[in-house]
Amino acid sequence: MTLSVLAVASEIYPFVKTGGLADVVAALPAALAPLDVAVTTLVPGYPAVCDALEGAHEIAAWQDLPGGAARVLRGRAGGLDLLALDSPQLFDRPGNPYLAPDGTDWPDNGLRFAALGAAAARLAHALGVDAVHAHDWQAGLVPAYLRHTEGPLLPSLFTVHNLAFQGRFSADLFSLLGLPASAFAIDGVEFHGGVGFLKAGLWYANALSTVSPTYAEEILTPEGGMGLDGLLRARTDVLFGIRNGIDLEEWNPATDPHLAARFSADDPYPRAANAALVGERFALDGNRVGPLLAFIGRLTWQKGIDLVLEALPALLDCGAQLVILGQGEAALSAACEAAQAAHPGRVGVFVGYSEPLARIVYGGADAVLIPSRFEPCGLVQLIAQRYGAIPVVARTGGLADTVIDANDAALSMGWGTGVMFASSSAYALAAAIRRTSRLFQDRNTWLRLQANAMQLDVSWRGSAERYAAIFRRLAGR
Ligand code: ADP
Repeated sequence: MTLSVLAVASEIYPFVKTGGLADVVAALPAALAPLDVAVTTLVPGYPAVCDALEGAHEIAAWQDLPGGAARVLRGRAGGLDLLALDSPQLFDRPGNPYLAPDGTDWPDNGLRFAALGAAAARLAHALGVDAVHAHDWQAGLVPAYLRHTEGPLLPSLFTVHNLAFQGRFSADLFSLLGLPASAFAIDGVEFHGGVGFLKAGLWYANALSTVSPTYAEEILTPEGGMGLDGLLRARTDVLFGIRNGIDLEEWNPATDPHLAARFSADDPYPRAANAALVGERFALDGNRVGPLLAFIGRLTWQKGIDLVLEALPALLDCGAQLVILGQGEAALSAACEAAQAAHPGRVGVFVGYSEPLARIVYGGADAVLIPSRFEPCGLVQLIAQRYGAIPVVARTGGLADTVIDANDAALSMGWGTGVMFASSSAYALAAAIRRTSRLFQDRNTWLRLQANAMQLDVSWRGSAERYAAIFRRLAGR
């Protein structure tokens, strides 16, 4: 019998996306459908979501949610069964879902995502779903509201996509949440004297997951637990690490219309035309002797873009060129642009978000640098491998789980899909870049790695089965 799940999240591709969370929320329903799990997804009614909703009709309306009146519109968008929490005073704001135009957090973020949580709990009961799947801190109060709703407890899974974003607010918020006073406690939503959304999810949900097996281990340690390792250690019996996948139709170099030339594992040679287009877009010199390297991602400390800039002399020594596609912290964007100015024709930078450009880079770069200081799962290395760009990754979190290092042992077996190095060090990254260049110069080995990478299973299949098993267990099936 089909199991019904209400998923709750603050982002969904392609309508609202700041990171991998959006991709996962959009892809998981299709991966679960063949396993008899029907997912309906509740997201905030941002303008981009409401505009995309086809056949929208109201299925609920309340006056008393945290943050005031709201209604729920149901419709279809992007092939998904979508519920939009339509509350103009909270969500009718274009652009980034969390930040005001001046780049700071919206001051009412606590109230906005409390409304999402409260609405989810009411809807879950109204719809009579079998289980609820809450994603990240923005949905962290969902399990709390479920627990404090009268009637039988609807079971929930809380998935952490990044423990660094915790949704912490001052204690003043609590009185606006509509939760019983007893919930403001260490055995509840209270966290260091304030309200902790992520903490609440970790405390109240029946099952917990994060997005790779290695990250699920790392967050149990004081180094990786970001102040929540104690609580996580107390819940290891219900904590699972399930790696993300990518949608193989969405990310397919054989059909991707954005590429200058399409290709496959059997015929990778058209990649050269994409490399040429990358060179054109980033104004690179045409006389490269080493590999074309790329960085795609948020320009933040987590992603280690500063390490890339520190390793730049070694990179240039190898005859490599570098393109950077990202946006994020102003100081890091400026540092990237300064590197471009210092090395015109050898370093190209695009500060901004452009999926078409990202696709060309994935399809043309020889290797993609991912020196993250921590990485819950990471999608960049999955997409890169699918597109035959060799990932050069720090050994951390999901990067450690999804790339096979082309060390001597692996190569002697014909294995290897990437290059892995000790994390958090520019020296180790520089050494990895030199190793990558040597592999690149050995044509046959490089073609082997490229073919291995493109054949690696980066799909949702196995992971969807694990999610389905958790939902079945939660629902007592
Ligand atoms: P995050 O920590 O940001 O969620 P992930 O690796 O899980 O990192 O997901 C990042 C996703 O966003 C990938 O699909 C990547 O291709 C995409 N992406 C990141 N930055 C950009 C950008 N500037 N332009 C286009 N796509 C980007």
